[in-house]
Amino acid sequence: MVATDMQCIVNDIGRIVIPAKLRKKFDINEESTVEIYVQDGTIRMQKMKPACILCNTSESLHKFKGKTLCKACLDDLINC
Ligand SMILES: [Zn+2]
Repeated sequence: MVATDMQCIVNDIGRIVIPAKLRKKFDINEESTVEIYVQDGTIRMQKMKPACILCNTSESLHKFKGKTLCKACLDDLINC
């Protein structure tokens, strides 16, 4: 683990702000999805790779009405 000496305050509904320096370093923006999990007694977070919402592949991705779909699933939907 790498110490960052960054701290953030949890607000009254449990939200925290990821420091801008870390958002930039890990290319986290307002559309990013992060996974939060517990490991070895600590809360950890990692950016999720974009993936198709139907088959979970991360190849040939396209946005459709705000959702991420792969070309194969998009083609299947068009041909339904
Ligand atoms: Zn797919």
